Amino acid sequence: MSRTPIIAGNWKMFKTVSEATAFFAEVKGKAEVAGVESVICAPFTALPALVEAAKGTTIAIGAQNVHFEDNGAYTGEVSGLMLKDLGVKYVIIGHSERRAYFAESDEIVNKKTVAAFKHGLTPIVCVGEKLEERESGATKEVCKVQTEAAFQGLSAEQAAEVVVAYEPIWAIGTGKSSTSDDAQDVIGYIRGVIAGLYDEAVAAKVRIQYGGSVKPNNVSEYLGQADIDGALVGGASLEPASYIALIEGA
Ligand code: PEP
Repeated sequence: MSRTPIIAGNWKMFKTVSEATAFFAEVKGKAEVAGVESVICAPFTALPALVEAAKGTTIAIGAQNVHFEDNGAYTGEVSGLMLKDLGVKYVIIGHSERRAYFAESDEIVNKKTVAAFKHGLTPIVCVGEKLEERESGATKEVCKVQTEAAFQGLSAEQAAEVVVAYEPIWAIGTGKSSTSDDAQDVIGYIRGVIAGLYDEAVAAKVRIQYGGSVKPNNVSEYLGQADIDGALVGGASLEPASYIALIEGA
């Protein structure tokens, strides 16, 4: 089963509209490599300009969050209906920063994942353990619980389209990365969890990224592993040259 590698930049709360469009002008044509999917997940404010700039390119634009309702009295929130209307293709769901700072539970992550599919958005669902969970040997159990919760209620066709990002929390933005062998071990396990929920054929289609201090100089090592299909990248996705190098290295 060949899965198209997917590199997604997670800009977090960085870049104004003018910074985002200047970035895009620099990566256009360069962060477009045949056989690698290139995604930029930007703050909501930069999405309209980026969607416009990305027209005619192979770079997809993603959001970093979505509300699970289509509309309503949810001050400050943005729905899947609205993102789809903009032309956004991907949405990051359940990033550890959202789980930690905005109290996103597994149940909310699942509702957002279901909402993404309702509007034809592809979810990038983040799972991963905290340092203390890693140290107590709970990594796989934590990933199993988070993965099973996220996939609840998805059809086999939808499940096959999910992009999972395995991000050990202790490796995010810290410069400490999981070894590629350790990441492969957990990601292979997550694929097995998905096979248990559906079957081997569905699990073989799901793309699973590694995330946590991925840089241009280590991206190919992760992608060389059998079950690692890409990377979700924070810090190293913010500079055009680095983002291009990530795509080229994939
Ligand atoms: C992330 O934001 O999902 C991430 C993995 O960040 P970094 O690459 O900076 O560790």
